[in-house]
Amino acid sequence: MKDSCIFCKIIAGELPSNKVYEDKAILAFLDANPASEGHTLIIPKEHCENIYDIEEETLSKIAVLSKKLANIYKERLNIDNINILNSNGKYAQQDVPHYHMHLIPRKKDDKKLFKWGKQEVNHKKLLEKIVLELADKKYPV
Ligand code: ZN
Repeated sequence: MKDSCIFCKIIAGELPSNKVYEDKAILAFLDANPASEGHTLIIPKEHCENIYDIEEETLSKIAVLSKKLANIYKERLNIDNINILNSNGKYAQQDVPHYHMHLIPRKKDDKKLFKWGKQEVNHKKLLEKIVLELADKKYPV
């Protein structure tokens, strides 16, 4: 636990939350500042800042819970679709420095569309870097 971390305080029960799911490794709760009804955060119980330091096994559990909750929300919350996303680092607009996956239920015409502008990119050069890194033993897939 990191003393200054708001999510660690929620895990420790020092701050209230509306828990959706909890086990030894992960916790899911309703976002206190929801972008839509049912906006949920899934976090690891062990403090880690973001995708760069989260354990792969814990990340897998978060991914599986995302799928289960997406199905439940579709059946129970009368939603049309769902965004599942997370931000990693200040320039990616990560607001709380404790890994968290957002589940944001969406409805037709809710006008909460995420848009980004298209940029010109040299895909050939980019792929050379990415494919080489994936083949490297440092990041085995
Ligand atoms: Zn934390």
